[in-house]
Amino acid sequence: LSQLFRPLDLLGMVYRTIRQGVIDMASMFALIDTPAEVTDMPGAAPLAIARGHVRFEGVRFGYDPEREILHGLDLDIPAGSTVAVVGPSGAGKSTLARLMYRFYDVDQGRITIDGQDIRDVQQGSLRAAIGIVPQDTVLFNDTIGYNIGYGREGASQAEIEGAAAGAAIAGFIERQPDGYAARVGERGLKLSGGEKQRVAIARTLLKNPPILILDEATSALDSRTEADILATLQAIERGRTTIVIAHRLSTVVHADQIVVLDGGVVAERGTHGELLRLGGLYAEMWARQAQERDEDDVAGASEGA
Ligand code: ADP
Ligand code: MG
Repeated sequence: LSQLFRPLDLLGMVYRTIRQGVIDMASMFALIDTPAEVTDMPGAAPLAIARGHVRFEGVRFGYDPEREILHGLDLDIPAGSTVAVVGPSGAGKSTLARLMYRFYDVDQGRITIDGQDIRDVQQGSLRAAIGIVPQDTVLFNDTIGYNIGYGREGASQAEIEGAAAGAAIAGFIERQPDGYAARVGERGLKLSGGEKQRVAIARTLLKNPPILILDEATSALDSRTEADILATLQAIERGRTTIVIAHRLSTVVHADQIVVLDGGVVAERGTHGELLRLGGLYAEMWARQAQERDEDDVAGASEGA
């Protein structure tokens, strides 16, 4: 029965009910208050972050016991490095992010941060250490300033504006008649997918976490806005442990390690150069996307004419 109350299913329900992806505080608290199956161990200590070394060791997981999604995943992400996780849709990439944030517990194996099994530490401390820019961002029915400031309690207006600038959303906000006080939601601003993504990036810049997860964080952005933000994202990745989940391979070329996930197993791993030389799945995806980029360029040129 507890499976019915898994938090992401609930979140999914909310998504479907409230199409715009806007949620008010009351429903959010209802979600948070839902007795989760993931709870703190009695006497759990706070996570002690040393440098942020993340490991997945033989992780097996399925949302349903009958259908395993990750079939024994090993990942070693040295502190401060960037690992990119790529692969076809449905491969289990977002699942890996959800497990790290402990929306669910693994069925077998373990995930550790600086040697501590994440099941043994206080959830609040785990989530404070990790910043996620999710694939779909949920905004609160509140002001846009509040939605960014949510990233860190007690952030000043100047800090909020700095984060908005870093996420290339400051100009958009300043053009609103109410600026940062503009309301988001059914009766207020309707943000596009790309604008919501930039709000989520601003939130995360403000949170400034030692561990960063970007789950297709720029997928809804046009390539120009993406280019504006990539420099900021790469700057915040520097010096902190980062997991970049990406569909567009051009955004992961710089990663220290690229992992190709396919059907819940690691199909290939290496640097961009190594994987191209390997001539496997990654090289194939790269060639296909390069061709699409060329076709876009041609389309763009004829549009302009
Ligand atoms: P990716 O991010 O690589 O596209 P996901 O990790 O989102 O893939 O999903 C992996 C698999 O798990 C997919 O087959 C998907 O349908 C399934 N899945 C994802 N979320 C849920 C959920 N909440 N309940 C049941 N199955 C899910
Ligand atoms: Mg995904």
